[in-house]
Amino acid sequence: MSVPVFDLNSVILSSIGLTLTQVLVLLIFGAYQQRSLVMHWVRGLLVFALGLAVYFFSETSLIYGRHSAYIATSVTIIALGVSLFANGIRLLRGYRVYRYRTLVVITVMLAGNAVMINMYLPDRWLLLFNLTALMYVFGHATRSLVGHGKDFVAHVFWLCCSLFALVSLMLAVLAVKVVLTDDSHLHTFPHWPIHAYLTTIMMLSMVTVTSLMLLVMHVRAQAGLQAIATMDGLTGVLNRRGLQEAATRMQAVSQRLRLPMGMLMVDLDYFKKVNDVYGHLVGDVVLKSCAGTIRAALRGGDVIGRYGGEEFCVLMPNTGEHEAMILAERIRRIIEVTPVNIAGVESMRSETQAIKCTVSVGAVSSETVGYVLEGLFSAADQNLYKAKKEGRNRIASNVEQLQAKSAEESKPAKRHASLIA
Ligand code: GH3
Ligand code: MG
Ligand code: MG
Repeated sequence: MSVPVFDLNSVILSSIGLTLTQVLVLLIFGAYQQRSLVMHWVRGLLVFALGLAVYFFSETSLIYGRHSAYIATSVTIIALGVSLFANGIRLLRGYRVYRYRTLVVITVMLAGNAVMINMYLPDRWLLLFNLTALMYVFGHATRSLVGHGKDFVAHVFWLCCSLFALVSLMLAVLAVKVVLTDDSHLHTFPHWPIHAYLTTIMMLSMVTVTSLMLLVMHVRAQAGLQAIATMDGLTGVLNRRGLQEAATRMQAVSQRLRLPMGMLMVDLDYFKKVNDVYGHLVGDVVLKSCAGTIRAALRGGDVIGRYGGEEFCVLMPNTGEHEAMILAERIRRIIEVTPVNIAGVESMRSETQAIKCTVSVGAVSSETVGYVLEGLFSAADQNLYKAKKEGRNRIASNVEQLQAKSAEESKPAKRHASLIA
């Protein structure tokens, strides 16, 4: 069975057309988002299209009567385009961009080709040299596209990576074919059917990867917006909305699995005084620092959010009344012994280096108040109010209620046991 043969000129022409269309899409996208990054791909694709165009003209005319000179020139330009394109990918991924690498590869290709063509070295050498260089450039781009993790974006990167790996593989196959072809047939190289396939795959991989990179940029922008919508700008913990969403999710899972869910309401004591005495800037630093200290004291799976002004709420999965009380006490103690460093912050009392803070905590769990979120929030709030009323820098919980409840529940069992005796 023979492979279908396509007209290389038509393939090249349509590849140039598609690449330029992609450039247009990029320019429109870049007009309103991440222009400098997008311009890397625009430059890469334009140079790539130029490389294809040079090859296209080699079919109709010759440089110094040697077809190989055209091939060498077009491959060098294509390699430059792919290298510039790969630099854009590295920038998108936050990797270091080695611009000198592009320069070195292109300089080596130009110098190597010039020497080989001027010295009339065998075409086989020239072809292998150019194919190896192109393989190196595509290989480098493939490495830049390796996916990390298991999320959607990682899968997109793996897809792009495989497309570029496929091009590298086809180049390797072509190189092997060049090695295996004997001298009398090597002059037919420009007419090998594989060129049409290789050009198509090369163009498709560049165009597909560009589209997928735009998708990745879009997904990231969306995730950024989502984070802004649910995060508190000052403290970096969840805001009221994020907290509500997290609480709803945790409540649903806890109720389904019949696991207790705990909640803490943490409020800074006499915080108004901090603002009054040291100024709002210091107040902000104290809030930020306390949020960080509480967050560091939590266990994996616990969630913290800013409920309001200087009040934080902690959600704890699989946490009963007793454990909630223990965590509340841990947080109270840690805040008490961790002074907030305010050195360098513009303050009304500039000599102060650190401020000692305390918190009052209201702890509660679904064991005593049930799973309804409003009930949990209001019971935690009531316990917080109790802790404040009892003098601050303390915790209040429903542990006593729980003990009374379990004592009550064990009464009929005891009576029943005494009746049997
Ligand atoms: P208590 O011990 O009863 O909780 O007293 P308090 O002074 O902490 O409570 P109060 O509710 O009277 O005051 C809370 C203060 O928190 C008032 C408000 O100015 C301050 N505050 C709220 N949000 C912020 C903020 O984002 N930055 C700063 N610096 N202050 C804030
Ligand atoms: Mg307060
Ligand atoms: Mg308050």
